[in-house]
Amino acid sequence: MKIKNVVVIGSGTMGSGIAAHLCNANVPVTLLDLKTEISEKAREQIYKSKPPLLIDKSKINNINVGNISDDFDVVKEADWVVEAVVERIDIKHQIYEKIFKARKDGAIVSSNTSSIPIKVLSEHLTSDEKKDFCITHFFNPVRYMGLLEIVKNENNDLNKINQLKEFCEVELGKGAIICNDTPGFLGNRVGVYAMQIAMTEAFKMKLTIEEADAIFGRPMGIPKTGVFGLYDLIGIDLMADVLKSFIKELPKSDEFHEVAKEIPLVKKLIETGYTGRKGKGGFYRMNKTGATKVMEAINLETGDYSVSKKINIRSDKVDLKGLINRKDKYGTYAWSVLSKIIKYASSLVPSITKEFNDIDEAMRLGFNWAKGPFEMLEEIGVNNFFDKVDDFKGNNFLENLSKKKNENFYGERQKYTSIETLGKVKKTASNTDGNDSAKIYRFNDYNIVEFTTKANALDYDSMDALKKATDKPLIIINESMQFSAGVNLTYTMEFADKNDFKSIEKFIKYFQETCKHLKYSKHPVISAPSGLTLGGGFEVMVQSNFVASHTNIVVGLVETMVGLIPAGGGCKEMLARWLDTKEAKADPNFAPLKVFDIIGFGRTATSPVEAEPMKYLKPEDKKIMNRNSLLEVCKKVLNENKNFKAPNEFKFKLPGKTVRVEMDKILDKLYNDKVILDHGVTVAKELAHVLSGGDTTIDKTLTEDDLYKLELNAFMKLIETKETQDRIKHTLKTGKPLIN
Ligand code: NAD
Repeated sequence: MKIKNVVVIGSGTMGSGIAAHLCNANVPVTLLDLKTEISEKAREQIYKSKPPLLIDKSKINNINVGNISDDFDVVKEADWVVEAVVERIDIKHQIYEKIFKARKDGAIVSSNTSSIPIKVLSEHLTSDEKKDFCITHFFNPVRYMGLLEIVKNENNDLNKINQLKEFCEVELGKGAIICNDTPGFLGNRVGVYAMQIAMTEAFKMKLTIEEADAIFGRPMGIPKTGVFGLYDLIGIDLMADVLKSFIKELPKSDEFHEVAKEIPLVKKLIETGYTGRKGKGGFYRMNKTGATKVMEAINLETGDYSVSKKINIRSDKVDLKGLINRKDKYGTYAWSVLSKIIKYASSLVPSITKEFNDIDEAMRLGFNWAKGPFEMLEEIGVNNFFDKVDDFKGNNFLENLSKKKNENFYGERQKYTSIETLGKVKKTASNTDGNDSAKIYRFNDYNIVEFTTKANALDYDSMDALKKATDKPLIIINESMQFSAGVNLTYTMEFADKNDFKSIEKFIKYFQETCKHLKYSKHPVISAPSGLTLGGGFEVMVQSNFVASHTNIVVGLVETMVGLIPAGGGCKEMLARWLDTKEAKADPNFAPLKVFDIIGFGRTATSPVEAEPMKYLKPEDKKIMNRNSLLEVCKKVLNENKNFKAPNEFKFKLPGKTVRVEMDKILDKLYNDKVILDHGVTVAKELAHVLSGGDTTIDKTLTEDDLYKLELNAFMKLIETKETQDRIKHTLKTGKPLIN
């Protein structure tokens, strides 16, 4: 059975996210709610959503809307009906009655419930109806979260479940894990427990919320929202409902009850409208007085707010062993939280799944953890863990492991899919080397480089690893959230603070040399971006010979925002792309002006569809919905290019001063309109100099090296200015651009 037409019932957060994502997959979809105005409003929200739920906003009208009274006939045509109405069993039962009366024979019906067991959902269905009924539990926001949990019932037609799984993997790009019918399935059962442990231990140990978030965050390979930040993001009231449902569903003996008890401060926050970011604030709140905004944090003992303090734990890396061995309160907290998560997750094997690996993968895909609990155990070391851990009686998994103490207990990864993923393949490398910033995995006929720094920011070592790995066809790919957020600005500023500009120049030259090497070495190089692919990250990608891009990317050259210009070949490559157009052949100013606009404003694209018109991506670059498939696609491209020959060098004809006159006019207007200020003009003039080709005329030919030199000179002039350094410092501190 092919899924060619879908109806989603309930157009709230999840229904609209699911409909938008079906639209992303070019599947015709209709969104129904109680009233057409509600689903129409939902469609408007989809259009305005940030980050965007749609890959291509121009397709918004491919989502049809209607209401369940007048438009229910659409269900007759659907191959799949997804129910995403409020979490109320009576309402869900009524909807199923209606759907099963109307649906065409054999059409799949699924619920997006996060907590109601399938046994209960399907209790009024006939055994024939049950054959086609399951739970498809998507995560919010649907486009961006990789996890889809599918829960079957004992009557299911397994063939059909597998077809649905394949559709969701291939067309929707989800990591689809089949789960047992247990409360919270895999992701929420462990993820919500982990949040509760992180929270309750912080209360017990009298940590501040900033301290808890600094530990239960990046150092553990957990998103930087930590626990209290995540609570605010999800909604403190919604979390209370989730806990209530776990308490109702789980047996009294389950450890979950220990961590799900009502906390007076949390109750008070909800009652007073402090429900998180959507409310007046939550554990954190933004205090606005006049034009100034100050982030404040709550005191867990008194409930009072004071200015939030940044916690420096002096470690920027995911380092579990280092963390739990610290001889301070942070070490104690980290061990307590980690060991309890590992104990709880392992106590659920095999009751919630026989494959402990599925729990890890659910945590990666559904909560964006770098490692799940069992991989954490592997990293801490089995012997190390048992030396430190107290009691684990009744936990079969740990009891067995403690007898064998097998450090290599883990085995395969990503068992839920038959795709040859990076996670599976890197475990089979014949040799692994690299450095602190990037790992090199070596295989017979290709190498893989995986960046490993925070947000995969690039430094000298990242370049070193890339260069070393070009002795074979090379795939640049990684498993973390970002491909690369660009050059490591902290690293650059450390030199600038010491007035050591020579070292910055040396680094930029090495960056250029490496990118040139990627482009022209005799073996092909392919980049597989996903997430942020900005600045230097974009320059690595654009100077690779091939690209296989995930559909969830944020791509662009944003250097001007921090008072710099792209100097790793970004200006050069964008010029080359725009010079290779019909318009540029007719008008010598066309390409420099286009690129001036794109780089000058630091324009970004949030999908391949947006990236192509800016020429950040090319039509022939591969665009893939399922991130897991990126490696297979890269390998296929390398295979198809066994006779690869490095490209010819691009020659540039640029107009020099004549286009700079035009650029100056644009800048004058922007300055007069106060869109840019003094330093904005300085930065843009340097950019104009590079993009015009410097002191050249249209009859002269410039080489790629000439362009690299122009980029380097402009970059060095700018980094030496106080105003650019101010911009960088401001962005590093606040994450926002400084307009000066
Ligand atoms: P929501 O409150 O945002 O939206 C629910 C929608 O259902 C509303 O638009 C409402 O008008 C509509 N509705 C109510 N009764 C209806 C009826 N009889 N017919 C048609 N529409 C009706 O809820 P949500 O957050 O989107 O959750 C929907 C489902 O997804 C729930 O089962 C929830 O447990 C589950 N879920 C939610 C999340 C999340 O993060 N919000 C994540 C995973 C799963």
